[in-house]
Amino acid sequence: MVERLKKGLLIILSGPSGVGKGTVRQELFKDESLNLAYSISMTTRKPRPNEKDGVDYFFVSEETFKEKIENGELLEYAKFVGNYYGTPQFHVEELLNEGKNVVLEIEVQGALQVMAKCPHALTIFLVPPSLEELERRIRGRRTEEESIVQERLAKARKEIATKDEYKYVVENDDVVAAKERIAEIIKENL
Ligand code: 5GP
Repeated sequence: MVERLKKGLLIILSGPSGVGKGTVRQELFKDESLNLAYSISMTTRKPRPNEKDGVDYFFVSEETFKEKIENGELLEYAKFVGNYYGTPQFHVEELLNEGKNVVLEIEVQGALQVMAKCPHALTIFLVPPSLEELERRIRGRRTEEESIVQERLAKARKEIATKDEYKYVVENDDVVAAKERIAEIIKENL
């Protein structure tokens, strides 16, 4: 008997720190018709006060992270503003094989690695209405010191410059409108 695997769509959602990827993603996940699953990343960053291990990220030590790299367990990884972030490969494959449309919410260096390995991935870059608005949003978080805020802003400018590597660029002016546009894009690509 031939086993047929129901393959889902791999979706990369990128955009500069503070653009609101997490909020747009939460809106998308309310839409059950999209059949989405979230790939929980691994990071060496310390959890923010509202974050939970195994929900927002798997928070690990640098030693554990490096072991995962060496064992080839990560689909992609990158160092971002002093910390490592990566996508555990096994879980993504499992969810795709279950027919889920899997969302990777990752930064640009990692996204480029996935694009090279999986050319059929649906790639979406979220942009802020302006850099001033992005700065306001990053500062609004109030969880980071000034030097980190400055690093994230510098990184954001560089990341926005790579947006044309993505198949779709969506402006996040209004969360619901951005969610609607991305939902449309996903449906067009199913
Ligand atoms: P934050 O510290 O704000 O949670 O995340 C910093 C950046 O790392 C964000 O752009 C976020 O999307 C990205 N990121 C989160 N998980 C991963 C991952 O698994 N791989 C890569 N390459 N980037 C990630």
